[in-house]
Amino acid sequence: MEYGKFGGQYVPQNLKERLDEIEREFEKLRNDEEFKSEYLYYLKQFVGRPTPLYYAENLSKFAGGAKIFLKREDLNHTGAHKINNAIGQTLLAKRMGKTHIIAETGAGQHGVATATVCSLFGIKCTIFMGKEDIKRQRVNVEKMKLLGAKIQEVTRGEGTLKEAVDEAFDYLVENDEVFYLIGSAVRTRSVS
Ligand SMILES: *Cc1c(COP(=O)(O)O)cnc(C)c1O
Repeated sequence: MEYGKFGGQYVPQNLKERLDEIEREFEKLRNDEEFKSEYLYYLKQFVGRPTPLYYAENLSKFAGGAKIFLKREDLNHTGAHKINNAIGQTLLAKRMGKTHIIAETGAGQHGVATATVCSLFGIKCTIFMGKEDIKRQRVNVEKMKLLGAKIQEVTRGEGTLKEAVDEAFDYLVENDEVFYLIGSAVRTRSVS
């Protein structure tokens, strides 16, 4: 058995096929100059990168010793690093001919970044979100809706992030036109 340098994958067969499809396309595009320059174009003109590097003088003095710098990723469009990931994956999804992007969100930040990029490219967007998280994160839910995304409320289990991930994977496996724009390093229970 070969587990590779990252420890391998242990996923159900129907999901494995969809993951392999993404891997194949990514390997094709990762050294594609046109794809890379398209990506960098959006990072610069839409996201606002490169973000500044700020010398945190007070914090440096307080900590005593090292000079501490803060890379201001919070100044990116939508307020975090998440948009970098969302743009890259959306461009990949477009190349794969996918017409519907889905994502999971807990606090709502990855959902907002995904909804923003889908709105930019005019792609149908559904955000899977637990019932409890929807209650806790009303402002981000409202933002996603304003950006044109559909919120898929997840009621199973505790109605939080992990169930949203499971439901998104189930939906991915059942729908060929879907690209799952994952926002984290996640694991799912076995897909039925
Ligand atoms: C932001 C973030 C999350 C959580 O995203 P939310 O949608 O805001 O819950 C998870 N994993 C990573 C790596 C993140 O950066």
